Amino acid sequence: MQTFAEELDQLRSEGLYRSMRVIKGAQGSHVDLDGKRVLLLCSNNYLGLADHAALRRAAVMGVAFGVGSGASRLVSGTMDLHEELERRIARFKGTERALVFNSGYAANTGIISALVGRGDTIFSDKLNHASIVDGALLSRANVHRYPHRDMAALERLLREKPGTGRRLIVTDGVFSMDGDLAPLRKMVQLAREYDALLMVDDAHGTGVLGATGRGTAELLGVMDGVDIHMGTLGKGLGSFGAYAAASETICDYLVNRARSFIFSTSLPPAVLAPSIAALDLVDSREGKELRDRLAANVALFKKSLAGAGFDTMGSETQIVPIFVGPAETTMQFSKELLEQGIFVQGIRPPTVPAGSCRLRCTIMATHDPADLEAAAHTIARMGKKLGVI
Ligand code: PMP
Repeated sequence: MQTFAEELDQLRSEGLYRSMRVIKGAQGSHVDLDGKRVLLLCSNNYLGLADHAALRRAAVMGVAFGVGSGASRLVSGTMDLHEELERRIARFKGTERALVFNSGYAANTGIISALVGRGDTIFSDKLNHASIVDGALLSRANVHRYPHRDMAALERLLREKPGTGRRLIVTDGVFSMDGDLAPLRKMVQLAREYDALLMVDDAHGTGVLGATGRGTAELLGVMDGVDIHMGTLGKGLGSFGAYAAASETICDYLVNRARSFIFSTSLPPAVLAPSIAALDLVDSREGKELRDRLAANVALFKKSLAGAGFDTMGSETQIVPIFVGPAETTMQFSKELLEQGIFVQGIRPPTVPAGSCRLRCTIMATHDPADLEAAAHTIARMGKKLGVI
């Protein structure tokens, strides 16, 4: 036990120790933290659906089918709500079929380790999410990581590492800590030219990006060029879980080979029903209004930050990092903002490379623009005080 405690002390001394903050009540634009109402600037509930009345109602209706699903999908845990949600997701993404996974983490580890194995090759962006990294490790395939969004480097690797087995290019659609986009047009072209499958993890684009909320691939006009669309239901869609949307063959293969799909109790009805409601909402006029409101909020917040002289690290989306650098300053920044009623997390290694610590601000459609402007002013005042700007 001694070594565990020592390691924790070491983390504390390096400013890398982590602990959890507890929110009382529902997830809204403001939350109750330690008895204080604060502006929530670090949630992935981008459209505010996590606390939406239509999703709440759907969850209650879902409970009519019981609380638990009782078994894994291939045993007796496939209920008609699973099928309905999967049909709905396939329609949403324009694919032959879709499969629901229990979380984005489970989806990435399950999908990647199923599609490729020993002797196969994975090409992965250096800033891809941890669940992609873990899926790649689990697969035992050869992994080549290319510098972030560097398509010349990706092409070089595809050319120089022909291999004999399957080849998978995998990328975040929206990079979760930087808020920039994968160059999907070029990636589709490279995947075709070099005979590789292309998988896009659109955890942060789903429901949010593109004219109809289909995500990064819609925004960049490549819906048909992506072989495996992975996305999550717990961020923009406000519910919980994840999916793979792909061809009938790939989905059928995953049913037979993806261990996180096969060996885990399936999602319960009260989680499936709100996911269906969320997709309906995204397709409605209200969904479009929420996306428009989110885009306006993002533009307003970024303009204020840029005016103050912050580096937002090339963000192209509702994920707006503020570059700080050292871990200690980042955590101090976050602490002082909380004292001012703004809840935003500092992001440190191992989530991001050392020396590139940042505040990761995330904007929601349900934020009041006046609150965002006031927050940007407070952030600027604190940034000056700490020497960040
Ligand atoms: N992929 C990306 C890009 C993510 O940001 C996340 C969540 N942080 C996941 C996958 C995992 O999704 P989930 O939270 O549903 O496990």
